[in-house]
Amino acid sequence: MDFELTTEQKTIKELARRFASEEIAPVARDNDRECHFHRDILQKMAPLGLLGGPIPERYGGAGLDYISHAIITEEIGRACSSVRTTLSVQVSLVELSILAWGTEEQKQRYLPALCKGELLGCFALTEPNAGSDAANQSTSAVLRGDKWVLNGTKTWISNAGVADLAIVIARTDKTKKHEGLTAFIVEKEKVQGFTTRDILHKLGLRSSNTAEIYLEDCAIPKDSVLGGVGEGFKVAMGGLDNGRYSVAAGCVGICQACIDASVRYARERVQFDRPIGSFQLVQDMIARMVVDTEAARLLVYKAGHVKNAGLKSTLETSIAKYFASEAAVRAANMAIQIHGSYGYSDEFPVERYLRDAKVATIYEGTSEIQKLIIGREVLDLKAFT
Ligand SMILES: Cc1cc2nc3c(=O)[nH]c(=O)nc-3n(C[C@H](O)[C@H](O)[C@H](O)COP(=O)(O)OP(=O)(O)OC[C@H]3O[C@@H](n4cnc5c(N)ncnc54)[C@H](O)[C@@H]3O)c2cc1C
Repeated sequence: MDFELTTEQKTIKELARRFASEEIAPVARDNDRECHFHRDILQKMAPLGLLGGPIPERYGGAGLDYISHAIITEEIGRACSSVRTTLSVQVSLVELSILAWGTEEQKQRYLPALCKGELLGCFALTEPNAGSDAANQSTSAVLRGDKWVLNGTKTWISNAGVADLAIVIARTDKTKKHEGLTAFIVEKEKVQGFTTRDILHKLGLRSSNTAEIYLEDCAIPKDSVLGGVGEGFKVAMGGLDNGRYSVAAGCVGICQACIDASVRYARERVQFDRPIGSFQLVQDMIARMVVDTEAARLLVYKAGHVKNAGLKSTLETSIAKYFASEAAVRAANMAIQIHGSYGYSDEFPVERYLRDAKVATIYEGTSEIQKLIIGREVLDLKAFT
């Protein structure tokens, strides 16, 4: 076992960190305050290869391994979880799903444009009555002539209000549950009956776009199916295996950002005539953050190692996502504590870290669902269907 990053991975880390420090971190607070989705940042990421990390070069990606993909995601997440969420959706949920399930024609048509940032994608699984129970989809897709006609509502969809393209999971067979679902690629500008409404006043991720999607007799070409008819649940779960990996890596970034901010502050802030970092109770908080961060990062890398080997990584990914997201909430909470009152205002970034960390224990499967997956995988017994 080798814990050292390769020379290429070190270079990628440095590149992603420099980009995040120069282009993302300086505007993160203002974007958060103004709930401003900053598309320009994504356009700048594309030429550096950051929008297509694990996508093969023949489809316009950077052809990187999954550890490198995690490193990029961690570094972006260290600066801003809203940008990281957009990145995770674009690369892990949309591009990797098309890579895994798309026809050669779909891969050629969409992947290069997604990697260049010319197209922005979203992944629409959740519905008002289908959250954790993702198979309980009400959105319908009916084949009429040479078109599929979609009807239904999707909610809490990242990027939906700003995306050009959506992967939509819909029911094509009412007599079946999981096997009755199909995934579709919908190009927003090319169809009628696809509208969105932004979800406002979120606790965190304020500069990430989150929206509802309304599909009203939305007719799309017959060849818009991603994977086969009836394979939508598999497409969705495969997408979530990749998405959760990316969320976990982003949470390592939040943890690291909490350490960096807390160490800086604990060295500078003086009380009782000494830096607060010299108090052992403050050191205790920093030590717990450091241990959590190291553990979370290693869990992400382990999941990445399994992905690099081309093996099923559901268990390793859920362990990493569960641990890293909960660790990020703990770290951000302690980082605020270390900053005292100053941590309670956005003069320092730690309050944003807490608001942004919380969603990672909810989206792409709540912590409870991750524990059910881990239990199911280990016991080889279904806790839920
Ligand atoms: C900012 C944001 C962005 C999002 N982006 C996307 C996106 O891009 N695409 C997308 O499709 N979705 C997205 N989501 C939706 C997200 O994935 C769902 O909210 C999540 O899966 C949980 O579903 P729910 O909110 O309906 O909660 P529910 O499923 O109603 O769960 C409520 C509570 O019950 C618990 N619970 C439910 N079932 C069980 C069970 N069997 N055992 C134990 N506890 C259980 C849950 O853990 C939770 O604590 C996003 C959500 C947010 C907040």
